[in-house]
Amino acid sequence: MRIMKRPNILLTGTPGVGKTTLGKELAERTGLTYVNVGDLAQEDQLFDGFDEEYQCPILDEDKVVDELEDKMTDGGVIVDYHGCDFFPERWFHIVFVLRTDNTNLYNRLESRGYTGKKLQDNVQCEIFQTIYEEAMEAYKEEIVHQLPSNNPEDLERNLEQIMNWIEQWMKDNN
Ligand code: ADP
Ligand code: MG
Repeated sequence: MRIMKRPNILLTGTPGVGKTTLGKELAERTGLTYVNVGDLAQEDQLFDGFDEEYQCPILDEDKVVDELEDKMTDGGVIVDYHGCDFFPERWFHIVFVLRTDNTNLYNRLESRGYTGKKLQDNVQCEIFQTIYEEAMEAYKEEIVHQLPSNNPEDLERNLEQIMNWIEQWMKDNN
């Protein structure tokens, strides 16, 4: 049996923009494999030190890359993480940076329990479009796309858009 080639998709953006919501639903509808890098690091303890200021463990980026390499080579993976500059460029066929309006994001992060500097810094990260710029630096500009992620209509539109792209990619590459 010939195995169909399937694309690898990166979903990135500031915490709270909706990466996990979109990624899990997309995996459900397409059968692609969803990987949440934060959860993976937690489960397999892929950390290197502790950030005192933010009171959280620091990701061991090299260990994450090593751990994911084989899966990424096989293809058909949706990766979800709030950073993107340490993944090998060759892994991804397309990169989506989710974007959310400030007030909306503030409310989501507050209801997630974020307060003080953590809340401020994350909202600022979105205002300064830090992750979008990181993605534009790390990947070819033509594969980086911003997606609005403010309401359920946006979610549905994003799902349909990505599923159409996957379908076309599969036609072109198999
Ligand atoms: P991330 O994984 O980027 O941190 P989540 O997927 O956990 O973000 O979403 C953060 C919060 O925003 C959740 O409460 C989720 O239900 C909500 N959310 C995500 N996407 C949307 C959307 N398109 N419209 C409305 N709420 C959303
Ligand atoms: Mg998430």
